[in-house]
Amino acid sequence: MKFLFFARLGLMIPALGAPFLGAAPATLADFQAQASRSNAVLTLPAYPVTSAEIQAQVEAALKSADAAFEAIAALDPAKLTFENTFVAYDRNTAAVVNVSLVVGTVAESSVDKAMRDTANELSVKIEEWSVGLDYREGLYRALKTLADRKPALDREQQRLVDDQMRGYRRAGLGLPPAERAEVERLRKDLAALTTQFGININEARAPLDLSADELAGVPQSLLDSPGVKQPDGRFRVMANITWHVTTIMENARSEETRKRVNLARTTLAITKNVPVLTKMVVLRADLAHRLGYNNWADYQTETRMAKTGATAVKFEEDLVAGLQPKFDAEMKVLQQMKATETGRADAKVELWDVPYYQNQLKKTRYAVDTEALRVYFPYQATLEGMFAIYQKIFGLKFTAVEPPYVWAKGVQLYVVQDSASGTPMGAFYLDMFPREGKFNHFACFSQKTGGVMADGRYDLPVAALLCNFPAPSADKPSLLMHSDVETLFHEFGHVMHGMLSRSRFVAQSGFTVPRDFIEAPSQMLENWVWDKTVLDSFAADYRDPAKKIPADTITALISARQATDGYYNRRQLAVGSLDLKIHTLSADEAWLADVVELTNGVTGKITLTPAPGTAWAAYIGHLAGYDAGYYGYLWAKVMAIDMASVFKAAPGGFLDEKVGRRLRDEVYSVGDTRDVAESVEKFLGRPRSQEPFLDYVGIRK
Ligand SMILES: [Zn+2]
Repeated sequence: MKFLFFARLGLMIPALGAPFLGAAPATLADFQAQASRSNAVLTLPAYPVTSAEIQAQVEAALKSADAAFEAIAALDPAKLTFENTFVAYDRNTAAVVNVSLVVGTVAESSVDKAMRDTANELSVKIEEWSVGLDYREGLYRALKTLADRKPALDREQQRLVDDQMRGYRRAGLGLPPAERAEVERLRKDLAALTTQFGININEARAPLDLSADELAGVPQSLLDSPGVKQPDGRFRVMANITWHVTTIMENARSEETRKRVNLARTTLAITKNVPVLTKMVVLRADLAHRLGYNNWADYQTETRMAKTGATAVKFEEDLVAGLQPKFDAEMKVLQQMKATETGRADAKVELWDVPYYQNQLKKTRYAVDTEALRVYFPYQATLEGMFAIYQKIFGLKFTAVEPPYVWAKGVQLYVVQDSASGTPMGAFYLDMFPREGKFNHFACFSQKTGGVMADGRYDLPVAALLCNFPAPSADKPSLLMHSDVETLFHEFGHVMHGMLSRSRFVAQSGFTVPRDFIEAPSQMLENWVWDKTVLDSFAADYRDPAKKIPADTITALISARQATDGYYNRRQLAVGSLDLKIHTLSADEAWLADVVELTNGVTGKITLTPAPGTAWAAYIGHLAGYDAGYYGYLWAKVMAIDMASVFKAAPGGFLDEKVGRRLRDEVYSVGDTRDVAESVEKFLGRPRSQEPFLDYVGIRK
């Protein structure tokens, strides 16, 4: 069942004589009054300020939901209605979800370590509660009884019923008791193996002691970093520390050194995790078979856009073929570089040569000083520039208001309105700079999901961005990298997805879309920061705002990205394809499968042949947790670029309001109320295509 995570929205417009007529709303209270005039409610989550408070909130939410579910289970079968079963279920799970969102925010953002610890413990408790939700027999029977009666329902209601019943079937509730018990046992075994696979990866260590000669070309910063220099004068690098590996693979002039590091890296966790992976593959195939699927990939993709393992496999195969000319051209360049450097015309490019020659290529032929570009992206101007763009294309207005409460100094609150009607749509917090104990990446955290309340009013969504942009100093504003600007456009895209969602049921809001789609709208918006018109609308040298980024700098940035994009994407496809290879085996095939042979075989076909005795699959964490799912990264990215191409071709380009409005209406607003494939095609106005992606990586027709 979908235990969801995000979304929201709102409305308003004063009638003549309304108190705020003539004056723009400026306080949260103004917006709340406006919302209530359009049958909506704009309330912020109640943030706990002590560990006891957060504990009490969680206990109350779980208790209330438990009571509601028991009440549903106890209903007289003759009196079951869609409203008192499925809608009640949706509202009560939403209440728990909303508390869990606040708990998640506290865990990642509180300035008080005790609060963060309590929140982390409570997150585990809520997670356990949500897993048990599938197995409440009485609740299941009540929902099933109503579903079996096939009441007359509209599209969204029917979808709610179908998704819920599908969730039960996937959990094994459709099976006879003995078989169900066996499925539960297998699931527990699988969960234990999944955890073990991750632990083995975390615990794997591979030190290599290398001399200064062997490390020629490697930056001094690595040699000087703590623990590297040894008493005997050699340098100890760790093949399990990614940046050690990357730095050596990109810079060490000795092929022998690169090969040794590559071998150490691709044998990490091999003795422990090859048996674990083998067992997981067998268990997953067995589970899928017992639940009525051909294979694990079919089970995993059923709830995603791909819907079947075969569709995901075909997507990967088509893209491997589509990228072939680019991959060949890039490999030819690398081969020439290796031939020149080694003096051997027939020098063969191996896996351990690729990062080294790619880096040489970027330095010699595509040098762009990305540090120097920072002057064009002072944080505040960049944020405001992005706001202006999103307000324009989506027809919105953002207003900063005084927040009644913030979890840390400097956090800001904004209200989002529909610009045509003035209707409040929701609110978002910005928490943009690093501090001790805070979440250390960049992400959008939903604070409250939007949906219709029992009294018919719309409960507007709330979101928060937790980011770690460089903080401003006394004499200099915060200056962003171009890649930071791309991240900002991406993450704020998630905020938009949440704000614009207008689903009636919480289980169908914007953030509940399938996992192989959820990144697409945000990835699409990354394309904006590679466009001169977009950049010129806000990017300017902070010391002399008349200075814009030169056109050839942008071209050079794009060329640098494209120089290695063929190989990069083929590598992504290698992981996606080996993941599908071992998860499209039938139960019988899985028993006989040699996972190393299969995964190395796929890798060799899509990138380069791995060295004998290695098994990089043993160190790919995604195979335990995002299994039969890695294809989803490229699936979403290809779709994102396909969607961006519609803007590119529009009269207004990336700032085209008509296309923006269509995106808002056909994709963001509908959330998961219908199949997202349908939504995407309605937006595109044609079937999906891989062509814009191939163009993006530099394959010219
Ligand atoms: Zn994202």
